[in-house]
Amino acid sequence: MSEMSNEIFSEICKIVGKENASMRKLDREVYSHDISPLPGVFGLVFDTLPDIVVRPGNSQEVSNIVKVAYKKQIPVIPRGAGTWGLGGAVPAFGGIVLDMTRMNKIHSIDKDNLCITAEPGVTWKKIDDFAAKNSLGLGAYPSSAPAATVGGWLGTGGVGLGTYKYGGAGDQVRTLEVVLPDGRIIETGFEKVANNSTGFDLTRLFVGSEGTLGIITKATIKLRPKPKSTNVFAFDFSELEDACMSIRKIVHSNLRPWHLGFFDSDHYRFLNLTENSKFTCDFKIRLIIVFEGEKEIVENECNICKNIIEKCKGREVDKEETIKCWEERYYEFRAKHLGPTVVPYEVFVPVSGIKEAIEQTEKLAKSLKLTIGIGATLCDENTVALMPYYFSDESKVVRFLSHLSFTKKLADMSISLGGHPAGLGLFYAPFLAKRANVLELMTDIKCALDPKNIMNPGKLIESSTRYGFNIPPFAFRAGLEMFALASKILPRQEIKMVENKEGKET
Ligand SMILES: Cc1cc2nc3c(=O)[nH]c(=O)nc-3n(C[C@H](O)[C@H](O)[C@H](O)COP(=O)(O)OP(=O)(O)OC[C@H]3O[C@@H](n4cnc5c(N)ncnc54)[C@H](O)[C@@H]3O)c2cc1C
Repeated sequence: MSEMSNEIFSEICKIVGKENASMRKLDREVYSHDISPLPGVFGLVFDTLPDIVVRPGNSQEVSNIVKVAYKKQIPVIPRGAGTWGLGGAVPAFGGIVLDMTRMNKIHSIDKDNLCITAEPGVTWKKIDDFAAKNSLGLGAYPSSAPAATVGGWLGTGGVGLGTYKYGGAGDQVRTLEVVLPDGRIIETGFEKVANNSTGFDLTRLFVGSEGTLGIITKATIKLRPKPKSTNVFAFDFSELEDACMSIRKIVHSNLRPWHLGFFDSDHYRFLNLTENSKFTCDFKIRLIIVFEGEKEIVENECNICKNIIEKCKGREVDKEETIKCWEERYYEFRAKHLGPTVVPYEVFVPVSGIKEAIEQTEKLAKSLKLTIGIGATLCDENTVALMPYYFSDESKVVRFLSHLSFTKKLADMSISLGGHPAGLGLFYAPFLAKRANVLELMTDIKCALDPKNIMNPGKLIESSTRYGFNIPPFAFRAGLEMFALASKILPRQEIKMVENKEGKET
């Protein structure tokens, strides 16, 4: 603990109170990783251990802490629930982690103007539950809503349930309160009306900036009237071709489902291995669709949609099984225990290329000897968020590293189809290198807002090592190609079967 750290620590304690700041090793270790465990060898490259962990209680405290950090040029890393998994919420080279989950109040709900104002540490589920008590609801939210915070999902600019009808994270926002890297507090938009025709769209600048431009300290989120009717149904397809045709026909119709997504049968096979769940798996793709709104309109939409799907050889899944599938929506990675690690990765591909994307993903997994499940969500008429996940074991370092090549190859595949990888975080900044002009402009924006590079540095536009240099894109690519080779040579990692509740092997 350096003298400098001690001095800063006591300044911070004066701001938030001793009970909300810590330099204890154990606390710092807890904040040195997010939901994705990393082998210790990563510590040779990144210094993910924060120097200080702070739990601010309000915007002014955040601003005062940032002012201290700005003066002393210390990294500040905003963190929600740490469920993102791309290292965005852990330091690249030490600094102050701001755990925003203490700022978890809902300030107000405006029923007339259909919006709710909340602090960044509130979970999306809490907002939706609160809105439901007022006969309102969120348009869209991440499937990790029970844990994911407002600041976290907006920070990543993600997509989720309801995105097909109501858009991604950024589309849910009316205005944000943000603490800038020099400690100023700004409001990006307006609480009651959309931010049209007012110059730069500052709200959008912060959405998806992964905490590198400022800290969201308050958000006003749009609400919608609670739907009078919600209808969930599912269809199985034996052939990938038919499932893709069905999706194409739905997006080219005038139908507007709230949710349109699918899983492959392996996903359900893995779930069957984890617990007593018994999903049928006699299909290739299971499409899940949700319509909601006025009762008569929903009924009509469902009928039209089912008609389209039946013509594409879809077989409707019975109600009980459909409900079981839908109830799984918050627990996409329940199969984790089989790994013992499950590593998801998301890419965006065009709807026109979905069949090819799935075929290539499967081929890739086979060549790298990976066991994968595939899930996907339609984000709009053109875009599919494809999220395969693979099983690995971070305690087997060489094999774990070799498996990481899958993400690189998947990203390359998405780009070749006209799409792109989702999220950059701590590791994937080198993916931006191919878009040199974009990277340059993003770097200019970052420098203009954060000239001292204190706001979540070493992420998104650069993958910075603990030694002060960035991972060069060519080294990143070459390294992952080598890992791919290793993955092909090493034996396949078998997934475990776990004991079910009766204590028998499934
Ligand atoms: C089962 C499961 C399902 C998931 N489903 C989805 C899904 O449907 N859609 C989806 O997009 N993701 C999904 N995810 C990934 C993850 O849950 C989401 O990205 C989530 O929104 C992250 O929220 P968090 O609070 O955990 O953020 P963190 O992981 O803590 O942080 C994420 C990023 O946001 C930044 N950040 C956090 N708080 C702030 C703030 N106040 N101001 C500025 N920046 C901030 C961090 O620095 C970091 O870069 C899922 C994950 C799991 C485990």
